[in-house]
Amino acid sequence: MALLEVSGLVAGYGAITAVKGINLRVERGEIVTLIGSNGAGKSTALRAISGIVRPRSGQITFQDARIERLAPHQIVSRGVSQVPEGRGIFHRLSVRENLLMGAYQRRDAEIEPDLERVYDLFPRLKERLGQPGGTLSGGEQQMLAIGRALMARPTLLLLDEPSMGLSPLLVETIFSTITSIREQGSTILLVEQNALMALEIADRAYVLESGAITLEGTGAELGRDDSVRRAYLGEE
Ligand code: ATP
Repeated sequence: MALLEVSGLVAGYGAITAVKGINLRVERGEIVTLIGSNGAGKSTALRAISGIVRPRSGQITFQDARIERLAPHQIVSRGVSQVPEGRGIFHRLSVRENLLMGAYQRRDAEIEPDLERVYDLFPRLKERLGQPGGTLSGGEQQMLAIGRALMARPTLLLLDEPSMGLSPLLVETIFSTITSIREQGSTILLVEQNALMALEIADRAYVLESGAITLEGTGAELGRDDSVRRAYLGEE
């Protein structure tokens, strides 16, 4: 069985059904991306997996156990961490305190070495350990949000639009970091509007439109697909 299996997932808010019965899977060690236009339901799908939005129906299986009825902190403790859209930094806490919040459920002795690993990925954070999170630039806050999620030692990292609002150079940095994180052993489910970059680094990809999956394939296949190129890569 795959590391994560989602089947028949339906989720929404009040009268709105944002995700309408999707199936997807993520194998251990993969980078899988979910692309689609504004309002397609990408963030809702991630929120349902991490337990922030309670699914209306469907099954979510992680490491052979059903998780769709668990609370978010229980899902984190099983090894799923989410980097939310908009980053969710604690503005008054320092960079170091923000990172330690990511490890709040851990009781092991590896927290300091893991902080060092985050500093290796993002040297910029190491230079700013005492600075309040709210005073970081947008790109630095994104690094901090990813670093904080890594401090939970996730088996599966859920990333919601990590490139949003960043300069092209920082987008490159964030995407190459995502590849390094996979090399260090985490599996990644990535939601992105920047379809071009996402398809370049993804092993497999799904296209979500109006709450339904309309296309799936390898990153390379979808990157070559005419309808994807027209809809998401801005080609005529
Ligand atoms: P974007 O790329 O613009 O973030 P998305 O694909 O991630 O879009 P979602 O954020 O999942 O889309 O939103 C799907 C639908 O659910 C949209 O119609 C949105 O207006 C609605 N929605 C999202 N969050 C809420 C909420 N908290 N309350 C009510 N409706 C919501």
